[in-house]
Amino acid sequence: MKTFRKFSFISIITISMFFSLGLLAPETEEGMYPLSEIHNVDLVRAGLKISPKDIYDPNGISLVDALVNVGGCTGSFVSPDGLIITNHHCAFGAINRASSTDNNYLEDGFLAETRSQEISATGYKCKITESYEDVSKIILDAVKGIDDLAERTKAISKKINELNDKYTDSDNSIEARVSEMFAGQTYVLFKYRIIEDVRLVYAPPRAIGEFGGESDNWVWPRHTGDFTFMRAYVAPDGSSAKYSKENVPFKPKKFLKVNPNGVEENDFVFVLGYPGRTFRHQPSQYLEYQQEYLLPYVSELYEWTIKLIEDISSVDEAMQLKYASTIKGYANTMKNYQGKLKGLRKIQLIQKKRDEEQLLKDFIKAKPELKNKYGKLFVDIDNVYSELFDIAEADLWFQRFPRVSNLMNISSFIIENAKEKEKPNLERKSMYMESNLDATKQRIERTFDFLNSEIELNVWAKMFDDAYGFENTSRIRTIDSLIKNEDDDPYVDVEAMLNSTNLYDKSFFNELTAKPYKELKKVDDDLFQLIISLYEEELTINKKRDAIEGALGKLLPQLAEVKRMWNQKSFIPDANGTLRLTYGYVKGYAPADAVYYTPITTLDGVIEKSYMGGDYSLPDKMYDLYEAKDFGKFYNKKIGGVPVALLYNMDTTGGNSGSPILNAYGEIVGVNFDRAYEATINDFAWNESYSRSIGVDIRYILWITQKYGGADYLLSEMGVNL
Ligand code: ASP
Repeated sequence: MKTFRKFSFISIITISMFFSLGLLAPETEEGMYPLSEIHNVDLVRAGLKISPKDIYDPNGISLVDALVNVGGCTGSFVSPDGLIITNHHCAFGAINRASSTDNNYLEDGFLAETRSQEISATGYKCKITESYEDVSKIILDAVKGIDDLAERTKAISKKINELNDKYTDSDNSIEARVSEMFAGQTYVLFKYRIIEDVRLVYAPPRAIGEFGGESDNWVWPRHTGDFTFMRAYVAPDGSSAKYSKENVPFKPKKFLKVNPNGVEENDFVFVLGYPGRTFRHQPSQYLEYQQEYLLPYVSELYEWTIKLIEDISSVDEAMQLKYASTIKGYANTMKNYQGKLKGLRKIQLIQKKRDEEQLLKDFIKAKPELKNKYGKLFVDIDNVYSELFDIAEADLWFQRFPRVSNLMNISSFIIENAKEKEKPNLERKSMYMESNLDATKQRIERTFDFLNSEIELNVWAKMFDDAYGFENTSRIRTIDSLIKNEDDDPYVDVEAMLNSTNLYDKSFFNELTAKPYKELKKVDDDLFQLIISLYEEELTINKKRDAIEGALGKLLPQLAEVKRMWNQKSFIPDANGTLRLTYGYVKGYAPADAVYYTPITTLDGVIEKSYMGGDYSLPDKMYDLYEAKDFGKFYNKKIGGVPVALLYNMDTTGGNSGSPILNAYGEIVGVNFDRAYEATINDFAWNESYSRSIGVDIRYILWITQKYGGADYLLSEMGVNL
């Protein structure tokens, strides 16, 4: 097996110079530091008791080698036999898929008593970061001389696809992915080792793993046991392989040491993980777009969809189980977006950004050489955004329709796939490239299980209704053209199309997937033809969006340049799904007038909340253990109970779910799973006063696993003495 520890020293230096200007201050501050930056943060002064090299060593084995990206979340190896700890909500889809009304692992929890009982987490894979390399020059050379903005966007994505393809080595299970670090400026090629066989080992019941449900989601004080154990498997020769009985547990290069004693208030802690996306280097107009369009539209749409599915499934237990993950996903996004909307208004972030931009404008104006170069920068950004605002309603409608309608999702795949096939492989959207197409198709095929005509009829009626309200610049002509006379209700036609379509039929899907685009246009199915017409309209919107992105790809680097000259500060790239470190302290906060929250909750709080029932109901066994004071070694005298959840002032976002919380010695003391409500705004602006992340305490994890789950063997496997 080849390994990819081939680092270009020059690359590391370039990235570093770009991000920083000297050693960063030890106080807690904004920062999801990429690997290239870890050596620039004075972690020892901040409280680290090991060498930063123990965290990340490009030429040896270090803590980052114990990290995995699992199912879009983070996880970490905690035993030499590939045992992974992550969140319950990260494994939720796998637990849900493995459950039936007779064997309801979501409800009852799941424990594999032996390795042979571990069940496949279908659809999950693990990615381990093997190496990275700065490829900015290669990418930017590819757009030299291209003035057309939409073409520029295309050229960048083509070059990215080319590198991804060139360095992906399926034989050795290596997947290459170029990530944009700073828009239009820096690009880094990451190589990931892929593991395709992931299994469920232990998941507590939902009443523990999701204790507090949506009522407590994005909320502190928290009492959720949001953890699950999984295991990575590979073929006997160590190569990656799909699920097979012959596979053997993966032997990670590094696994984390579990510290069953946990941490205390004010202790130094850090998190390694794969944060998804943040948007801190965007201009004020981006926030306006969020506040006026994206956040209200999506949160309302998801709220409506949740209610619809809940109503339709109210007396159907099997249906409730089937849609559990879907609803959870919508609810999580909805509450996050509502939190962001509240936060944007509360801290008046848009105005703050505008004020900062005014200072930048003054700075530019004061220096002739800057005025020459950047004099039009802000006007240009404004113009680009006004183009985006014009199409925002339609654009969001097209983007979100397939997320709430499986019928639309399936049809979009058929049509887009046919259209993309007309292009050379490297110019296609990544999901339609030859190397990814099978996986995409399998994902789409799984959605057939979720096709439900009652849901579809209602969703389509809502989407059409929404579209009638759009502004002139965002009209959807395909829908308008259904209205022949003023009092026509075009939805009547659509309802008839929905009732007569063959798109619910999988064999029809297979038949259509084999057809070229021009044949698809002849298929005798009214609904399908309507969707084709919508698709063609969407293409024109996409073209505008590509041009907008292309323009921003040129303007945002200039904005970053000016900012850097103005405040002489180092910048850390926004989160983009790549491996990062953040650090801070176990610390309470004051989210509102006259309110202060301490940072560690206990089992007493779980029991107290449980008296409210509903989202807080607990299995009887929890009361038995509590009343018997059967706390094992996990009772903490100083805290006065079994610690359950931790609060800390770090910089995390979605994707950091499941990240290990590490103490000053690099030992795991908890698992990150959420943020406080006020910290949903983190994604736009981090601030020590309100940015708090939430994790489940290792002592609760071990207590539940041992006492509730009866899985002593897992504690032994992790080297925890009982
Ligand atoms: N609970 C969050 C999520 O699932 C994690 C976070 O965003 O902090 O997205």
